[in-house]
Amino acid sequence: MCPGCYKGNKDNIEGYCLNCRKKLFDGKKVSHILNFDPPKENNYREYQNKTKKLSISGVQLKYSMILDGKELKLTETGGQYILKPIPTADHILNKDQAPENEHLTMQIASQVFGIETAESALIYFKDGSPAYITKRFDIKPEGGKYLQEDMAQASGKTRQSHGEDFKYQGTYEDVGALITQHVSATAPALEAFFRQVLFNYIFSNDDAHLKNFSFIESPMGDNMLAKAYDLMCTQLHTPGGPETALELYKGDNENEFYAREGRYGQVHFRELAKKIGINPIRAARIIAILLNSSVRVHEMVENSQLSREAKEKYLSYYDSKIRLLGKNELLIAQKFKIKKVEDFPPDIMVKVSFYRNEQPIVGKFVKEFVDNTHRVLNNLFAFVEDENLDEYEKTGDSSLIKVINGDTVVEVETIEPLVKASSISSSE
Ligand SMILES: [Zn+2]
Repeated sequence: MCPGCYKGNKDNIEGYCLNCRKKLFDGKKVSHILNFDPPKENNYREYQNKTKKLSISGVQLKYSMILDGKELKLTETGGQYILKPIPTADHILNKDQAPENEHLTMQIASQVFGIETAESALIYFKDGSPAYITKRFDIKPEGGKYLQEDMAQASGKTRQSHGEDFKYQGTYEDVGALITQHVSATAPALEAFFRQVLFNYIFSNDDAHLKNFSFIESPMGDNMLAKAYDLMCTQLHTPGGPETALELYKGDNENEFYAREGRYGQVHFRELAKKIGINPIRAARIIAILLNSSVRVHEMVENSQLSREAKEKYLSYYDSKIRLLGKNELLIAQKFKIKKVEDFPPDIMVKVSFYRNEQPIVGKFVKEFVDNTHRVLNNLFAFVEDENLDEYEKTGDSSLIKVINGDTVVEVETIEPLVKASSISSSE
């Protein structure tokens, strides 16, 4: 298996596949094993000397590397890659899983969700211990750098002006406003940003602060949103952290949902999308895509090099987030293979389950009587329970409709026709 893309190595070569070599190392045959050891007591000084430029950032030490011929070397200047070995800080759990966690999360973002990410791979030191390596995207192919500015810089927040936790000051709504100001192709940049914020929430990354989003000069010279970087399930290492690094928007804990649940739900992400100027239909699509790839996410986690225990934790955090975010119309339509909006709802008996203690209900979704825009914007569905269906079909009495909020729905399943069900039970 290629330590870059996790794909079976069809090129039948050891280490990185040809495609990863191209993406990471300009096609050069670079080994996935470095010819030196990780930072230890006996070589600490050398690491220190070579890494003056990259100070301790967050919880992980980073080192700067250069590709010299086919060989990766630590460097003081002109770094093209960033190397992150297993972190050393004491308060971090499952430290040895950190390189794989980061690489896996980056690959899921890229391969499953099409999020543009910095190129990354796993690499190994001479002693066999793993590290995460990522290619800097601010280096021009011909040398020199594209101008890059992170969101702390772009919003004028520094340690001097805003104190120790300056990079956690602000909201994702503020970042959206910065994107609108700085990027000319605003709509795709805002959607890419929104997708990342929701991804980080779903994958329990509570460290997506202002410095983990950047603007970068495009080859044409204009400003764009930089690729995603530093994605990982931080919950695995620092459990019990906040839901997100930044608040989604001011007052995000003041709505009815938060009062009831004490946490974010789908409604918060729809609200964020609205506040930063994303079309609600597009936002619903992005939410549906991120909530609907459970099978592929499970496959990638299972195929990764995480330990058994870390895989279980990673997936349990992920599964609980997916569950808590509920469903929306696109997800339900996909489930019943409905392609056209006008074919919704499906004319079939379903069982709807909720994540609260509420009992599941059986019946049919029906065409609504309420204002459709209001319905879509609030993820509401009109539903008639089984016992009222006959009367509803006869009279169309709207008082028989139960309004369901998709945010609280965990599952929608088809119910076998009742006749068939009773014939099975009678034959037993
Ligand atoms: Zn590969």
